[in-house]
Parts: sequence; structure tokens; C-alpha cells
Amino acid sequence: MKFYNTLNHKEEEFKSITSGEVKMYTCGPTVYDTVHIGNLRAYTFNDLLKRTLSVNGYKVLHVMNITDVDDKTIKRSGGEKEKFQALTKEYEAKFWSDLKELNILPPTKITRATQYIDKIASFIEELLRKDFAYKTSDGSVYFSIAKFKNYGQLSQLQNRELKPGARVTQDEYDKENPADFVLWKAWDEDDGEIFWHPSATLPQHGSGQVRTGTSLGKGRPGWSIECSVMSTDSLGDTIDIHTGGIDLVFPHHENEIAQSEAETGHRFVNFWLHNEHLLVDGRKMSKSLKNFYTLADIKEKGFSALDFRYLMLSSHYRSKLNFTWEGLEAARNAREKLKRFIAENQVEGEYCKVCTKKFYSKLNDDLMTPEALAVVWELVKDEKKSIGKKIATLKKWDEEILGLGLFDKFEIPAEIIELAEKRKIARVEKDFELSDKLRTEILNSGWSIEDLENNQYKITK
Ligand SMILES: [Zn+2]
Repeated sequence: MKFYNTLNHKEEEFKSITSGEVKMYTCGPTVYDTVHIGNLRAYTFNDLLKRTLSVNGYKVLHVMNITDVDDKTIKRSGGEKEKFQALTKEYEAKFWSDLKELNILPPTKITRATQYIDKIASFIEELLRKDFAYKTSDGSVYFSIAKFKNYGQLSQLQNRELKPGARVTQDEYDKENPADFVLWKAWDEDDGEIFWHPSATLPQHGSGQVRTGTSLGKGRPGWSIECSVMSTDSLGDTIDIHTGGIDLVFPHHENEIAQSEAETGHRFVNFWLHNEHLLVDGRKMSKSLKNFYTLADIKEKGFSALDFRYLMLSSHYRSKLNFTWEGLEAARNAREKLKRFIAENQVEGEYCKVCTKKFYSKLNDDLMTPEALAVVWELVKDEKKSIGKKIATLKKWDEEILGLGLFDKFEIPAEIIELAEKRKIARVEKDFELSDKLRTEILNSGWSIEDLENNQYKITK
């Protein structure tokens, strides 16, 4: 298997740290609004990567975070605590529901930033102790990029014109202005009721010293520190793969590397994989251009979420994908053709080993999904193969990799999935009253839900 590693700017043969196991971290969404189809491209790419690792015999330990506190979530809720909690919960449930509709397999572990405040504080204390960070007069803490000699390697900052003392407090800023970035933001009026006092007894971290207090005052974490802490805490100092959209390379991932490596003294990530942007009619998606779409917009026009998945498979993750309605229609036609072929030919058989090897080889080559789809069509059109063999092979590929729902008898409506996702969150939070209420709602709509291990579930008619 080889993948393009952003860190070294080339394709490299994949090797995991522990044989047969992959530790993978994915930057999850900021839950302040509905994710758009460009975000969904990132999670679909991630899903294909995971599925490919699995068919190659790896057990994938996959951690994804939920950014439930940052500039955007606070701004959107106007600093009101109750609104803030309701907002992040609502959009988190919507997010999982979108993923479920796209047949994106859930992570092994979900981490929420607000549940890691003490660990984040402990991590920042360690950076202060090691002199990679400093405090300003208002009580905020910044990372000193001049102290970290590899700063800029991932994003290829050619001219590391580091102005001493230049600082940036916003979570997002551009590559032209590399500066010391914020780890802990001291409370200000705009934050309203959203702040934390890290507790007096912090979890042990890094140096092995037991901490008995924190010098951090009332405030909240910066965005990038959240991922460094959740990744190292859940998966260890060094992980195999970190994924995300190309727009996260700078500053977010650059900052994650600096914080993590400064703190642990070890390499943070072996393979950095990034997907390219999704464009709409050749332009960057934006609300002001009115070319900004969510999965709901797509379904409103009568498409299935899985038509969109097919469209994403038809383009390589490192190429820009130009979304057009004509393109989506072509994807729907192709998927329907496959579904029809399967529905009309309910014949049993053995799957084709030679074709499967070929199919996998395309995925193992930096996830060449357009070529893998070409292998699918080659199989369908192959007159020398029996129908039974074709059907069995398609079934295997759809279950393992494609996730196009080609054998599904019915599609579960989005409203039902959303109820199920809300119920899942309620169960995790042990709010059984709410979870029972949601279950009844699902049953009353003519669907049933069965709980599986690891907080997963199955919906049937
Ligand atoms: Zn992240």
C-alpha cells in the first residue's frame, strides 16, 4: 500500500508502527452549523482509507474529535451557556446523521474538546515548563514558533519570516502571517458564560510529574491544542496516520505538530493525508456566492446521499472535485444502473478472486477510486463471467469498500437517522429518559432500532 504523505511531499510505502494495527486521527467538525458537502468529501475520503486499511488486514483504531468549543461556537451562541450546549449537541447529531447516510463507518472513539479541559491545561503547563510557550499579561498563553525549529515543514512555509513577538489570537489565520499562536485564551467579554477554570488537580501528563495545580486562569483552549491533546491522550505520542482537508494544513496541522512534538519530544505523525477541495461550478463554495450546499440540499433535489458518495468515488481524493448538478445526475444514473443489474439478477455464486485482487490494487495505490470504479464496470460488462460470480463480487466490494448501498432493499429516511443519532448521544450521556422517548418516536414512525456493541445500532423496518 502506498499513500501520498504531505509531510514529505511524495508517495510512500505504508508501514504501521505496530504490525497489523493502525492508529489514526481525524480532525472532526466544529459543531456550530451544518457541515457542507466539501466537509463531507473529507470524511468520505477518510472512510475509504479506513476501509482500504481493513481489507489489507489492519485493525484500525480511529479517533475523531468534535470541536465543541472555539471562536465559531462561542460567536454563534452569543456566549450564552445554555444556547452553546444546545447548539453543539444539535449540530453534532446532525453531523453523525449525515455520515451515517453516506455509509461512513463510525470512529472507534469520539472525543469532545470540552471533556478534555483539564488534560489540555496539563499539556499547556508542560509546554510552559519546557519553555515552548509563554504567558501574556492578560493571562493568555501562546506557543513560540521560533523555539520549534521544524515549524513550517508540513505547509512548506518557504519564508519563515518570523517576526519576534508577533501573535495571533484567532483560531484561523493564513499562511502569509505565521505567528505565535494561542494555546489558552484568557476570558474576555465576548466569551460571556463560556469559560473554564482548570481544576486544581490536573491529570498527570508528559514529564511524569504529578501536578497539583494550574497557573492557568479563567479562559478556554485554542483550537489546535485540542487536537494535540486528544490525539496523544487517546493514541499515544506517535500515530500512524492523521487525516484532514487540505485547508487544515496551515495553520491547524502545522500547529498540532509543533505543540505535540515540543511536548512529547517524539515524532507526532508518520503519515499526513489530505484531501483536496470540492468546488462548485468551478468556484470555491461560499455562502455569498449562493453555491453553498449541504447534504439536505442534495436530497431536496431528489438525489440519494449515496449518489453523492458515488460522485466522490469517481474523483481521486487529491484532485479538486468540481461539483455540478449534471455530474451528480451522471453519478445517480451509474449507481442506479448497478442497482438495477443486481435487482434483476438475484443469483448466488462465488466471488471472483482475480478481479478482487485487481480492485484492491487500485485502492492500495493511493486510493485510486476512479480506477477502482472502472474495475467495477469492467466486471459488470465482462461476458465471460457468470452472473452469480458478478453478483457475489459486487456484494463483497460494496460491503467492504464502496458503501453504495447497492444491495439495500430500502433507504432509511434522514429524520429517522437523526433521531437515532440523538438517541446515541443521550445514551452515552446516560440520559435514559430522553433515549427512551426517542426510541418511541422511531418506533411510532414504523421503524425499529436494535442496539449493537460500541454504541452502534441497526435500523430496520
Ligand atoms: Zn484537528
